[in-house]
Amino acid sequence: MALLVQKFGGTSVGTVERIEAVADKVIGYKDAGHDMVVVVSAMSGETNRLVALAKQIDPQARGRELDVLLTTGEQVTIALLAMAFEKRGYTARSYTGGQVKITTDSAHNKARIKSIDHAKISDDLRQGRIVVVAGFQGVDEQDNITTLGRGGSDTTGVALAAALKADECQIFTDVDGVYTTDPRVEPQARRLDVITFEEMLEMASLGSKVLQIRAVEFAQKYKVPLRVLSSFEEGEGTLITTEYGADKAMEQALISGIAFNRDEAQLTINGVSDTPGVAYQILGPISDANIEVDMILQNVSADGNTDFTFTVHRNDFDMALASLQQTAERLKAREVRGNNKIVKISIVGVGMRSHAGIASRMFEILSNEGINILMIATSEIKISVVVDEKYLELGVRALHDGFDLKTAS
Ligand code: ADP
Ligand code: ASP
Ligand code: MG
Repeated sequence: MALLVQKFGGTSVGTVERIEAVADKVIGYKDAGHDMVVVVSAMSGETNRLVALAKQIDPQARGRELDVLLTTGEQVTIALLAMAFEKRGYTARSYTGGQVKITTDSAHNKARIKSIDHAKISDDLRQGRIVVVAGFQGVDEQDNITTLGRGGSDTTGVALAAALKADECQIFTDVDGVYTTDPRVEPQARRLDVITFEEMLEMASLGSKVLQIRAVEFAQKYKVPLRVLSSFEEGEGTLITTEYGADKAMEQALISGIAFNRDEAQLTINGVSDTPGVAYQILGPISDANIEVDMILQNVSADGNTDFTFTVHRNDFDMALASLQQTAERLKAREVRGNNKIVKISIVGVGMRSHAGIASRMFEILSNEGINILMIATSEIKISVVVDEKYLELGVRALHDGFDLKTAS
C-alpha cells in the first residue's frame, strides 16, 4: 500500500465526462489499497476566461483581487470531483488551498509555498477518505488568497507529496510523458523514460510547460519521486530522477531535449557611453518595476559607446519599453528599439558538458535553414538562441532532426 498524490491538469478535468473518468481512475488505485490525495486544476480554458474577464474591467488587473477571482476555477473542479467519488460510494473531502492549509508568501499572482499543515488530510486518509485539493492556490499569513503562478497546480501536487511524504507524485496530463520537445510542435518527438531533475529544471525554465519549474525545484529539494503520465492512456510515463542509472549514463544522449519560449520580447538601447555603472542605470529601473530580465548582451564598445540588449517576458514589454525610453533620455542614448515578435529556442543536455562543438553544430543547423540568430546564451548544459518568431517551428524541427533526437539513444 502506498500514499499517492495525483495531479490532474485542465484538459484532464475539462468536461463533466472527464471528471467522471478521473474519479474512475483514482478509484482504481484506491481499490488496490492506496491512500489517495488528488490535486486538480481548473477546467481547461477556465483560468484564461477569468483572466479575460478581469482584463475587461482593468487591462492591468493583477494582485490580490485577481487571485480571489482565479482561484474560483479550481474550487469548481474540487467540488465536482468529490461529488463524483461520493456518487460512486466512496467518501471524499474537497479542500481549497486555504482550508488545507497551504501557507504562502504574499507575492500575489506568483506566491511561493512556505508551509503546509497537512493534519486534516492525514486525518481524512486515516479514515479512508479520498482527499481532493485545489491546485494553484494558498493563503498568506494574513489569510489573503494567493495563487502560485500559471501552471501552479503542479507545484501544489509536489508540495503536498513532500509534506505527506508520499511514495510518488504523479502528474497526469494530456501527453503521456516528457518528450524530447513539445510533441505538438514536432510530431516526431520521442517520449523519454527518464530525465534528470537537472535537465527537467532547465527544460522547464526555458519554456517547456509540461511541468511548472517550481514543481521541479520542490521535488528535487525534498526528494519527491515525480512522474508525468497521460490521464487518457495507460503507460509508465516519464520518471524525473536524480541521475541516470549506470546503463543509461553509458549511452547518454548529448542533447536530451529542445525547449522553446514564445513569451519573450527584446529591447535594445543604442549608443550609450561605455562607462562603469551603465548596465546598472539601464537595468535598475527595469528591476524596480518588478520586471524580470532574461538574456543580457552588451556589445564591445566602439569610440567609447556601446549597445545594450536584453529580453523580458512579453507581458512586460510595454512597461519595459517605456522605462527604457526614459533611461535613454537621461543617458542621452542614440535610440531605443523593441521587438516583441521573437522566441527563444534552447537545446538542453547534461551530455553537452563533456563535448565541444555542439554550439557550432547548432548554429550550422539553423544557418542551413536560413534562420538568423539574434542573441545567444550558453551554460554548461544548455545553449539558447533568440530568433524571429516565424522561425519557431522550423528551428525546433530542424534541431530535433539535426541532433537526431527521434532515434532513442
Ligand atoms: P496541464 O493542463 O495538464 O497542466 P499543460 O498544458 O500545462 O497541461 O502541459 C502539458 C503540455 O505541455 C502538453 O500538451 C505539451 O504541448 C506541452 N509540452 C511542452 N514541452 C513538452 C515536452 N518536452 N514534453 C511533453 N509535453 C510538452
Ligand atoms: N489553472 C491554473 C492555470 O491555468 C493552474 C494550473 O492549471 O496548473 O495556470
Ligand atoms: Mg500545466
